[in-house]
Amino acid sequence: MDRSYRTPKAWLTKTSGFLQGYDYSLNPYVGCTFACSYCYVRKMPVALFHKGEWGDWVDIKQGVKETFSNELVRAKKRGRVHLFMSSSTDPYQPVEVEEKVTRSLLEVMADNPPDFLFVQTRSPLVTRDVDILQQLGKRVRVSLTIETDLESVRKAFAPKAPPIQGRKRALHALYQAGIPTQLTVAPILPSSDRFAESYVSIADQVCIDTFELGDGANGKRSRALRMPERLTELGYESWYEEAALEKVHQQFCAHFDESRVKLSQEGFLP
Ligand code: SF4
Repeated sequence: MDRSYRTPKAWLTKTSGFLQGYDYSLNPYVGCTFACSYCYVRKMPVALFHKGEWGDWVDIKQGVKETFSNELVRAKKRGRVHLFMSSSTDPYQPVEVEEKVTRSLLEVMADNPPDFLFVQTRSPLVTRDVDILQQLGKRVRVSLTIETDLESVRKAFAPKAPPIQGRKRALHALYQAGIPTQLTVAPILPSSDRFAESYVSIADQVCIDTFELGDGANGKRSRALRMPERLTELGYESWYEEAALEKVHQQFCAHFDESRVKLSQEGFLP
């Protein structure tokens, strides 16, 4: 893995489009070694104009204590601060064990909380920071993405991302610690009929999203990444889009109160 360091001029990026409802996105890293095959960031400038294959490199941002604290103070003076961490990287990818950029950002936020923080990850490492997340109380929600309950499917689409059982245990631990949690099924991958039932008591809400709705380009990025073809190769052609959404949505609504099952963008709102 190619690792380099950079000191950003700014940590907070103004949001638009899919992240409406947020004021800024916050990315502790550039790049992501989970390297999910369907990752829409692969088709964004941040990846297209960087040397090396997506997943083979990560740029580590430095200077949290020196610069982020002041930037957060200034942002709060200007108005509401709803933060989305992260939109184009995973804040708990493996390098975080050592670098602790995400933890440092949370430490700053615990001292001077934003109005709301959404933490989006696929990694059980998030449980390391339960102590700080608890300090943020209702101002935080942690979203654990679990796209399927079938480990074989996870391995086919995201072999470098953490196994399903570890993510599920992490979600449960966060829930038990009183941290607002979200199970995010995004993008929907082929799953079993028992997917929903085992999550009822470990997530406050569920968000379901598809390749077409959730890639920020009406499916264009997912099609460029050949996701329909990949599903067909694996014998899951009926799992692309609407039929899959209906099937999974119905399954979760049978186990969760319907008001707790959100679709696409709605599930990512503060
Ligand atoms: S964890 Fe998220 S940012 Fe990282 S490769 Fe997978 S989809 Fe992309």
